[in-house]
Amino acid sequence: MNLIIFGPPGAGKGTQSNFIVNKYDLFQLSTGRILREEVKNKTELGIKIDSLMSSGSLIENKIVNKLIEGFVSNIKYKNRFIFDGYPRNIEQANNLDALLQKYEQKIDLVLDLSVSLDIVKKRISGRSACSICGKIYNDFFNTPPKNSSCCDSKFLQKRSDDTLDIAVKRFQTYEKNMDPLIKFYKDLNLLKSVNGERTISQISAEISGIIDSIEG
Ligand code: AMP
Repeated sequence: MNLIIFGPPGAGKGTQSNFIVNKYDLFQLSTGRILREEVKNKTELGIKIDSLMSSGSLIENKIVNKLIEGFVSNIKYKNRFIFDGYPRNIEQANNLDALLQKYEQKIDLVLDLSVSLDIVKKRISGRSACSICGKIYNDFFNTPPKNSSCCDSKFLQKRSDDTLDIAVKRFQTYEKNMDPLIKFYKDLNLLKSVNGERTISQISAEISGIIDSIEG
């Protein structure tokens, strides 16, 4: 099964993707995370995209599309994808469609996590991620375990684009690009909307129900 998870920054895509990865043995392909690694490692690409990333702007389709092919072509991940943060516009959706066909795969489900800007602001201001495993926490409602070799507070890092101003900009960019994408997947009968304003476990339970109904 391959699925896409949509939602504005702070919708809980990363948290719910972690849950789905563990429960269904899928592979989370987060373009944002891969691009952040490039910036952190100061690769040629990382240096080129650094300022765009920290200002919350999108990276060129050509760059992201190429990055995606490296994964979609890898047999290890075949039919095990959660696409998180990709596609972000219609050109990327068409590219994904073509790539999946080329490698004899398809999308089985698109989850759309919806949250309002007010909730996004609250979540983003408390958000941090473990620099070792990538798990996401929140100062207000999902604090990390203490004294553990992974996820301890000393390993937690904030994203440079997780400031309130930039979060609002990323939210607005997301909203602007999403309407045609939502229509694209609705027309293919793949879209399931999930209310992302509830607790993590309530959302996970709904997502499990949806996945089980299409897998079973
Ligand atoms: P995310 O972790 O999905 O919120 O992405 C963080 C940042 O990475 C975005 O603000 C963009 O700068 C970049 N990015 C991630 N995915 C894409 C994509 N599919 N297309 C263009 N830029 C992307």
